[in-house]
Formats: sequence, structure tokens, C-alpha cells
Amino acid sequence: MLPIINHPDYVAQIGDDHKFPIKKFGELFKLLKEDEIIKENNLHIPGPVSDADLARVHTLDYINKIKNLSLSKDEERKLGFPIVPSVRQRSFVATGGTVLAAQLALKHKLACNTAGGSHHAFADSGNGYCVFNDVAVAAEKLIAENNIKNILIYDLDVHQGDGTAKIFQNNEKVFTVSIHSKKNYPLNKQVSNLDIELDEGIKDDEYLEVVNQSLQKINSSSFDFVFYVAGVDIHEDDRIGKFKVSAEGIKKRDELVIKHFFDKKIPLCGVLGGGYNRDFNQLVYLHSILHRTCHSLLTYES
Ligand SMILES: [Zn+2]
Repeated sequence: MLPIINHPDYVAQIGDDHKFPIKKFGELFKLLKEDEIIKENNLHIPGPVSDADLARVHTLDYINKIKNLSLSKDEERKLGFPIVPSVRQRSFVATGGTVLAAQLALKHKLACNTAGGSHHAFADSGNGYCVFNDVAVAAEKLIAENNIKNILIYDLDVHQGDGTAKIFQNNEKVFTVSIHSKKNYPLNKQVSNLDIELDEGIKDDEYLEVVNQSLQKINSSSFDFVFYVAGVDIHEDDRIGKFKVSAEGIKKRDELVIKHFFDKKIPLCGVLGGGYNRDFNQLVYLHSILHRTCHSLLTYES
């Protein structure tokens, strides 16, 4: 079965009226359990990420600021979260969750976190609801400890994976792809190995064609590990995404991407990425498409 990683502390206490829909992580877990995508034998609870793992990506100064809850007001504003103990705890276990998911994906071909994809986090700063760059931390650990040499970070969140691009800009072992909205956050884009910028209002067929072409363009057989950032803020009812992709389009996208690498027997670690849908229940369902798609591929195969 598909290894799925979840921790109750993914739901930090930031107040119910906060713009960030933090409760989605708890509700996603419930939905996956209800639909028997999560059962007792495939649920994995991560520990907090270790200092040694974090330090491969983040500066000690920044790690200590998070540990001591000592961000300045300006840094806290850029992050978008109040820097309180439960946000600190969430950041450590969600990053530990992606590290664990990556390790399990090596063994089982596919594994998914029920959080992660904090792609706006830079080595020395948090931005846009991202404290630590979980995918970068997990990727550096695979390189350091598992002899993985060619990693693809394939980021389909509607926003550019700017922190990830910057962290790996001079790293030949990691290839970063970001397909995102030209006009959306972040204002100052970084340079990924492949950036594809799309206009507002793009619909299913055109979007899926861009994704398909990008998969053909990169030499995907050369990678020995893939991180897939499956943001659902491309959905037509998203509060901030501005694309017009349907739920069916997201399902087709995830099938296209995951099957592409699965058929090539390249291990893939799936992480959530962003989602800010106007309809909370729809948002939770959209995030679950990642897990449903991986689950059915593994089930079909066995
Ligand atoms: Zn996003």
C-alpha cells in the first residue's frame, strides 16, 4: 500500500479566522481514512526533522530564529504565520514528514506526505506560509545519505518555487522545474532550471498540454528520484490562483505526472503544495487527488 505520512501537529494553532486554511491538513487525514486510502498499516507518523538535516539547507542563524521564536515583526509578516510554538512544531514535523516520505518512496516507489511543498522558504528566510523548505531538506538528505545523484523537483503549484530554485541554483544534482502563473506571487521570480510561465485564466486542455510537453522536454529517464509538488491552487475556484483548471483537470494532471515517472520506475515523493479554495470541502478533496492517484497506481500494479 501507499505509505502516507501525517502528524496531528500539522494543524497549528493560528486562529480560525486566519487566511491560511490550516485545518485542511486534519480534514485531509480524516477524508483519506474514511475512503480507506489510509489504513493502520500504511500510516507513518514522522518525528521532527533533525538539526543536521535542516542545516544542509538552512543557515544556523535562521534555524535558531525559528527555534527561539525570535523572528522580527518584518520577518513574521513575510512568513504570513504568527511565529508561535505550534507553528514551530508544525514546521519541524512537516519537514520531518517529507524527509520520511522520501525515504519510504525509495523503498515503495511512491510515498506521500499530507503536508509539504514549502517552496517559498529560502536558506535564510521564511516567506509565503513556508518556514522550512521541506523538499530541499529531503533532497539534500537523499544526496548525502542514499547516494542519489540526479533529483528532479517538479513543481506544479500555481506560484513559482522561488526558494527551491534559489537553493539549488548552482547544484548540478538537482533539476528544478516550475510551471506557474506569470503574474502571481512571488513578485521577484528566481531562475529554475526550467520555468514555464502561464497567463491567468488558462483552462484544462491548454494547461495539460503544457504539462505534457514539459515532461517530454526534460530528459526524465535521467533522474533517479522525483519530488512532485502537487499544488491545487491552479483550481478555478481558488481564492488566489487565477487559473481556470477544473477538478477533473487536476485529476488528469496528477495521473499524467505520476504515471509518467511510475512507468519509468523512478521513485516519486508527493507533497501537497498550496490550495486556498473558496469551498473548504472541495479544497480537502482536491488535495486528496494526489494520494488517490498514487494509491490506485500501486493497487493496480500489485
Ligand atoms: Zn501556491
